[in-house]
Amino acid sequence: MAGLNFSPGDKVRLRLALKELDGVVLENAQSEVLLLKLDSGYNVGIPKENILAGRVLKKFVEDKKKFFLPKPDKKLKSIGLVVTGGTIASKLDARTGGVAPLTDVSEFANFYPEIFKIANVKKIVVPFMTASESMSSEHWLKIGNSVEELLNDSEIEGVVVTHGTDFLHYTSAVLSFFFVNLNKPVVLTYAQRSVDRASSDANLNLQCAAQMALSNCAEVVLVGHGSTNDDFCFAIRGTKVRKLHTSRRDAFKSVNDKPIAKVFSDKVEFISGYNVKHEGKVRGDFSFNDKVALVKFYPGQDSSILDFYALKYKGIIIEGSGLGHLPVGEQGNDWSLKLKKHIRNGFVVCITSQCIFGRVDPFVYSNGRKLLDAGVVFLEDMLAETAFVKLGWILGHYGWKKNVKEKMLENLAGEINEKLPIM
Ligand code: GLU
Repeated sequence: MAGLNFSPGDKVRLRLALKELDGVVLENAQSEVLLLKLDSGYNVGIPKENILAGRVLKKFVEDKKKFFLPKPDKKLKSIGLVVTGGTIASKLDARTGGVAPLTDVSEFANFYPEIFKIANVKKIVVPFMTASESMSSEHWLKIGNSVEELLNDSEIEGVVVTHGTDFLHYTSAVLSFFFVNLNKPVVLTYAQRSVDRASSDANLNLQCAAQMALSNCAEVVLVGHGSTNDDFCFAIRGTKVRKLHTSRRDAFKSVNDKPIAKVFSDKVEFISGYNVKHEGKVRGDFSFNDKVALVKFYPGQDSSILDFYALKYKGIIIEGSGLGHLPVGEQGNDWSLKLKKHIRNGFVVCITSQCIFGRVDPFVYSNGRKLLDAGVVFLEDMLAETAFVKLGWILGHYGWKKNVKEKMLENLAGEINEKLPIM
């Protein structure tokens, strides 16, 4: 139908040959097709020639209202908040149908009024706003600095950091090493679905994160949905957590470790041991050497990949087989010569498991012993991502150059578990 006078963001009702459709008009450069976001959340493209009639139910008006931070409630304890981007700091853009970052911190506060009923948010720091795939060690250092500033404010009980989900477990691991002697809780949280969707996980995650930040657990933890329902969260140690689902609200799981606590919007129930809060200031150990790599081994992989990394990098984490093997002594593809050569020249090679759950073990097969002889470091039950940030952090300390292996195998932030829990 020609002459449809709709603008992006308008809520409209369309009459088609067999049905009527309600939805919000989305921006679309392709003028013969009208893009519509349906109430179910799906986007559909409708050729304009198929539209028999249409009318505007609600004209789009840009929301120009001013947002303000709520006034502090003297009866509540205070927390600090670090906002870094991701879905938790985004909202649905009616005109594009996609999720776009919030531009104003007070808008963030406006979206999540519930957290202000649990704690006073004494200070909000926004070191940058970016998706977690765009982060680098520079961003980790900025987050570390923001966290340190808030931890050293004597009125603040704990710190909540909001973050995109995809590479959140790298940040939780790196903060665990930056702050090995933590004085207060540092709680990372996220949203898989933005707050303006009915199925959003943002509010419960934030409320539980605030509860955890008020607790006496002085550890870096990730707090997020414990089930697909909107009922409770788990607090998981920052070095033992991994995103294991693309879209579920309970995407993060505790790996080779029990969660530290079950967290509800009004209470924390501790499940396993943790470091308790202590008085005094904290200083982050913000060292990091970017010349580290994380590589997954696959059958047939050419060992000359080590030549490339040894040329430009100081160390590498390789996700080997289940128990941590690479092909050695096999005909045609023997990694041992290259490993020996580069390790002798000071290149660090560490092994984790492709299996995620469980522990690498060089003593079950003779291949494992050959790798040990070549100088490969077997990282017990450490997650590959945790191992990667730990190696970067250790190599960032010049004084530890001679004992990188010992440091990698020292349990500094709960990253190694001697006894794996039955889960
Ligand atoms: N991929 C983006 C990120 O990790 C956005 C998605 C999210 O927050 O889950 O920041």
